[in-house]
Amino acid sequence: MTTTPAAEPAHRPVPAGASGVIAFIGLGNMGGPMAANLVRAGYRVQAFDLAEPALAAARDAGVTVATDAGEAARGADVVITMLPAGRHVLSTYSGGLLDAAPAGALFIDCSTIDVADARKAVEAAHAAGKRALDAPVSGGTTGATNGTLTFMVGGADADVDAARPVLEAMGRKIVHCGGSGAGQAAKLCNNMLLGIQMIGVAEAFVLAESLGLSQEALFEVSSTATGQCWALNTNCPVPGPVPTSPANRDYQGGFAVALMAKDLGLATTALDAGGLGSPLGRLAAQVYGDLATTDRAGQDFSTVINVLRERTATATQS
Ligand code: NAD
Repeated sequence: MTTTPAAEPAHRPVPAGASGVIAFIGLGNMGGPMAANLVRAGYRVQAFDLAEPALAAARDAGVTVATDAGEAARGADVVITMLPAGRHVLSTYSGGLLDAAPAGALFIDCSTIDVADARKAVEAAHAAGKRALDAPVSGGTTGATNGTLTFMVGGADADVDAARPVLEAMGRKIVHCGGSGAGQAAKLCNNMLLGIQMIGVAEAFVLAESLGLSQEALFEVSSTATGQCWALNTNCPVPGPVPTSPANRDYQGGFAVALMAKDLGLATTALDAGGLGSPLGRLAAQVYGDLATTDRAGQDFSTVINVLRERTATATQS
């Protein structure tokens, strides 16, 4: 006797159960492809963005476009936000999103925002009878498009377990970092480290140039010695040693200076709140903050080496 396999459901149910609907607010460079990956995974996605082109692209990807955030959240088991900053998340939550979603809906904020704002957002969600997580990402627009993001998640165990299948449709690695705000904390700590490391790697190349040491020789030694790190081994700030690094494409693509400056600004706020000195983190925030006001703001953050070279030239002349 042959058995007929059960027909695939038209849409994948979201873990907590009921409707299988996910609301997605913020369909920009990151949110657009993330929402498209949820559709591809079989979820029914209702979404909203203030920008018409973002809505049009989402429609093409199979997303149901709503007239406002509240309409997107109606009947949704999971509500994802991917917005520019904390103020957008808090105002969207309080401006109708929390009220419109069903009781017990799971709110997942994937934006990179201040830790204090992340905790406020969770408190507001809990006060409205909803569940909530902070789940910022790393992996950039390539990771968002390819569904290979890393999610750093803060919140209760049961809520993280419920969110996992949804996050797995958009990412490759899900790390539960601790309670509310711990995901944002991990993101800020990591990016402060990354910003400092990139400046260190760039300074080493500039010093090598002045000592007559070739870039290839420095790379060959340091990429396998104690100086190795992602900023050197993967995102090398000079063209040549790592053919895929943005330096080989005139610093186009990659992780923009403006975003690094934003993340270091958030890290500085956290340093101030904790009364921490952290001189290198603060200096990195200043270096990238200055760079973000120039025409290099859109370039990959490894372009910082060009500023260091210019500073070296200025110092030599004076
Ligand atoms: P983006 O500017 O491309 O997209 C943000 C979108 O939010 C825009 O389409 C905008 O119209 C929409 N928006 C703003 N306010 C809104 C509101 N009230 N209601 C509905 N839509 C609204 O930004 P992005 O690059 O997609 O980044 C989003 C978040 O992800 C940011 O917090 C950023 O720091 C973080 N992030 C970005 C990257 C990256 O490489 N771009 C990487 C990691 C994390």
